[in-house]
Amino acid sequence: MERKKIYNSLKNIISEKRIVFDESLLEKYYSDESGNRFSFPLLVCHPENEEEIVELIKFSNKEKIPVIPRGRGTGLSGGAIPLYPSIIISTELMDKIIEVDRENFMVTTQPGIITGDLKREVESLELFYPPDPASLDSCSIGGNVAENSGGPSAVKYGTTKDYVKGLKIVTPIGEILKFGGKVRKDATGYNMKDIFIGSEGTLGFITEITFSLLPLPKYSIDLLLAFERIDEASNAVVKIIHSGVFPQTIEFMEKRALEAAKNFLGNQMASQKGEAQLLLRIDGYDREIVDKSIEKIDFISSKLRCVDILVAEDKNFQEKIWKARRSLHDAMVMMSVKREREDVVVPINSLSELIKNLHLLEEKYKIPIITFGHAGDGNVHINILKLKEDDKNFEKNIENVLSEIMEISVKLGGKLSGEHGIGIYKRKYMKLVFSEKEIEIQRNIKKLLDPDNIFNPDKIFL
Ligand SMILES: Cc1cc2nc3c(=O)[nH]c(=O)nc-3n(C[C@H](O)[C@H](O)[C@H](O)COP(=O)(O)OP(=O)(O)OC[C@H]3O[C@@H](n4cnc5c(N)ncnc54)[C@H](O)[C@@H]3O)c2cc1C
Repeated sequence: MERKKIYNSLKNIISEKRIVFDESLLEKYYSDESGNRFSFPLLVCHPENEEEIVELIKFSNKEKIPVIPRGRGTGLSGGAIPLYPSIIISTELMDKIIEVDRENFMVTTQPGIITGDLKREVESLELFYPPDPASLDSCSIGGNVAENSGGPSAVKYGTTKDYVKGLKIVTPIGEILKFGGKVRKDATGYNMKDIFIGSEGTLGFITEITFSLLPLPKYSIDLLLAFERIDEASNAVVKIIHSGVFPQTIEFMEKRALEAAKNFLGNQMASQKGEAQLLLRIDGYDREIVDKSIEKIDFISSKLRCVDILVAEDKNFQEKIWKARRSLHDAMVMMSVKREREDVVVPINSLSELIKNLHLLEEKYKIPIITFGHAGDGNVHINILKLKEDDKNFEKNIENVLSEIMEISVKLGGKLSGEHGIGIYKRKYMKLVFSEKEIEIQRNIKKLLDPDNIFNPDKIFL
């Protein structure tokens, strides 16, 4: 069907003001933050409610035109990128909180709200929605559910899936389903809502989400620990968790990441010491327990070769010690002409083994590999850098480097992605993790919901 004809048909479903047809305005919908393009969006629809989504999806089904749900386009695995000429359905206008239920500690929301806005809104009521992806001020909560996003606080508080209690979904053929609700326990039938969490926009359009909340912690203290050796930093992670202290975050930066941050920040670094640093946040409702946790961490660190400890309680100093970690994305961009980012996850006691193997890969292929990330949950961000435009070695070897990283992670008992998802780029590695049968079962679930394969087709599985 011609683009103009599609446009004319869709005008019967939603106001033409909310359909993007002009090719120059479609630019930003070609890709997500991974930056690659594959095909073009036919047009973009901005529905305001679930009924419009149902009709848009029914139309796509009738005409067999691929349809792609899109939040704010910050994804890193290509989930929102059209692989074929497609209709994009954006949630940008569906950004309202439907209800904050203070008695039940629940919030129900539309999918398009920016995650940080939702967090701030509930915090103003002394309530806490813990998941904190680094992109929280630009991504949507629906995108977070579709990717099962997490952030530094996953060590203590878990990821998005741990808070989703209810979901409303429009299926790929335009039916409305509702799973879960405002209950903290639910043993009624299959745990269906979890199939949609992390399904990367391939099984249905999430139109409403109910999240559980916590009371807002009163105290929050940060620690920066610098270690003489990388394995001692990862040893410390295991020992701290075993001691019964549950930090909200345990972030890891190896020396090369610290050097990159220093080049970016100049003399604004709180500490440059050590082969590796850990950044911890201890939070809680009881000051005495928070103080005792800090004493325990201090004791554990003193038994290892910890060369610097900084404790930050006031906001300014906290900002200062987090600055290096927060600057790493920009620091990597500044020092390279191109980079590949991986977010494999391994059991926490395999972290130093993973990093050792990455250093060997770096030597083998002569490509800089810099790691940092969420040490407390074994999810490491691996940055493979191309430093110069004319560096042919990078292009020649990058595919081998990526494959070896996936193999190493799986061998260590890990997985391909901790938070960014499979999308387009990691489909070819799924066989490392799943047997033929395990893949077939997942494909059959997709087929059952999307018999004509028009809903975000060919993502996750090749
Ligand atoms: C600088 C930076 C830092 C980041 N840090 C983190 C981090 O710390 N942790 C982390 O987990 N991720 C991180 N990300 C990745 C990204 O922000 C998350 O994956 C986020 O959840 C994507 O949300 P979005 O609204 O931008 O979704 P999009 O990119 O628009 O879409 C992502 C996927 O979700 C699907 N989708 C979106 N909305 C819906 C819906 N309503 N129904 C069904 N499917 C839907 C899309 O089809 C697509 O497959 C980071 C990204 C950047 C650029």
